[in-house]
Amino acid sequence: MKSLLFSISPFIFVVLFALSWATSAYADESFLDCLSLHSKDYSSISKVVYTQNNSSYSSVLESTIRNFRFTAPTTPKPLVIVTPLDVSHIQATIYCSRKHGLQIRTRSGGHDFEGLSYVSEVPFVIVDMVNLRSVDIDVKNRVAWVQSGAVLGELYYKIAATSNTLAFPAGLCPTVGIGGYLSGGGYGILFRKYGLATDNVIDAQLVDVNGRVLDRKSMGEDLFWAIRGGGGGSFGIVVAWKVQLVSVPATMTVFSINKTLEQNATKLVHRWQSVAPKLPDGFYSGVTLTRVNSSQDGKKTILASFHSSFLGGIDELVPLMQERFPELGLVREDCIEMSWIESILYMGQLSNETLDILLDRTFQSPLLSPSFKSKSDYVKKPIPEIAFQGLWSKLFEEEARFASLSFIAYGGIMDE
Ligand SMILES: Cc1cc2nc3c(=O)[nH]c(=O)nc-3n(C[C@H](O)[C@H](O)[C@H](O)COP(=O)(O)OP(=O)(O)OC[C@H]3O[C@@H](n4cnc5c(N)ncnc54)[C@H](O)[C@@H]3O)c2cc1C
Repeated sequence: MKSLLFSISPFIFVVLFALSWATSAYADESFLDCLSLHSKDYSSISKVVYTQNNSSYSSVLESTIRNFRFTAPTTPKPLVIVTPLDVSHIQATIYCSRKHGLQIRTRSGGHDFEGLSYVSEVPFVIVDMVNLRSVDIDVKNRVAWVQSGAVLGELYYKIAATSNTLAFPAGLCPTVGIGGYLSGGGYGILFRKYGLATDNVIDAQLVDVNGRVLDRKSMGEDLFWAIRGGGGGSFGIVVAWKVQLVSVPATMTVFSINKTLEQNATKLVHRWQSVAPKLPDGFYSGVTLTRVNSSQDGKKTILASFHSSFLGGIDELVPLMQERFPELGLVREDCIEMSWIESILYMGQLSNETLDILLDRTFQSPLLSPSFKSKSDYVKKPIPEIAFQGLWSKLFEEEARFASLSFIAYGGIMDE
C-alpha cells in the first residue's frame, strides 16, 4: 500500500537555494558559440535556445513549473533553456554542456515533486522536451512509440481515438510527462493487473553522456533496466519509449463513497487496509483522507473518500464488494459504468470536462494545490485504529488544514 501526503508547507527551501550563481555573460556566449559550432544546422537550433536575455525565457521556463514553491526569484535559474526539435539538438547540448562544465536538467512534464527538472544549485542548462512529443499508435501490434515530451493525457487521448478496448496502465494526472513518469516506474489504475507503466516499456531511444543514440539492443539490458524506474535524469536523456498497450473491456465501473468519522470512517479505513490489497486484479482501490467541517454541526471531522475502478460491469462488482467489504454498504446506485478513457477523467476528478482536457498541457490538476509538498511511503502492515485516531488529531491542527493523505492498495501483479 502506498501513501501520499499532500500539504502546503512554508517555503523553507528558498533559503537553502539563496546562494545562487551569478550569470556569466562569458560562459553564456561561449556555450552558444559551441552550440552553433556543433549543431548540424545552427539556424534551426538558434530558434530553440533561450538565454536569460531572451524575451521568451521566463515564459518558457515557467511553462511547466507545476509547483509554485519554485517560481520564487531566489530559486536558481538556468543559464540557457534548449527545447530541441530533434536528436541532433540534444547531442549538441550534451556535448557543449560537458565542455563548459554546465549541468543538464532534463524536463518533460515538469511534475517533479521537488522541481529537480528545472532547479539546480550549480550552473545549469535545461533541456525541455516540449517539442518532442509525438505519439504513434500501432493498433494491429498493440504498441505505441511515444516521445518523452508528451504528457499522459496526450497518450491516452490518442489511444482512445483508435480503440475503445486498448489502454496504457499509467497515472491519473493528465499533465504528468511521459519522460519523468516512465523513468520513475509509474503506478495507476491498471497497475494491479498490468504492473507499473515501465513494466510495459519494450524499447527506448536514449542519448547518453557521450551523445550516442542508443536503443534497447545497443544500450544493453542493464541500462535498459535502469532507465525503467531508476529515476529520471540519471542515465541520459530518453527521447522516446516503445510501450505495450493492454486490453480493457469496453465497459468498466467506477464508484466513490464518502464517510465521515461520525459514519464510522475510522473502522472502515482500518478494515479497507486488509480488504483492498486482496481484491481481484481488475480493481484499483484507494482512499483519500481530508479534514472537513461537518455539514451537520460545522465541527471538524475527517472525510474518508473510498474510490475504485473495476475492469468489469456493475453486476459483477456489487456482489463482490458486498461479500468482501459489506461494511462499506456499496449499492448499485453508487456505481457508474463507463469506458476506460472516461474512467481516467472520473478518477482524476475531471468528470465535468470533455476528453479535450487531456490535450491541455497547461491544465492544473484538481488533485493538487499549486504550492504542494508531497511525500510517499509504503505501509506494509495495517495501521492500527488507535494510530488513525492519533492521525486525526494531527490533521485537526491548524497547520494541517490543507493536508490530505492518499492510500493506494497494491496487491495483484504488484505482489509478484
Ligand atoms: C499532480 C501529480 C500527480 C501525480 N500522479 C502520479 C501517479 O498517478 N502515478 C505515479 O506513478 N506518479 C504520479 N506523480 C509523480 C510523477 O509521475 C513524477 O513526478 C514524474 O517524475 C513526473 O514526470 P514529469 O516528466 O512530469 O516531470 P519532470 O519534472 O519533467 O521530470 C521528473 C524527473 O525525470 C527527469 N526526466 C524528465 N524527462 C526525462 C527524459 N526525457 N529523460 C531522462 N530523464 C528525464 C527529470 O530530470 C526529473 O529528474 C504525480 C505527480 C504530480 C505532481
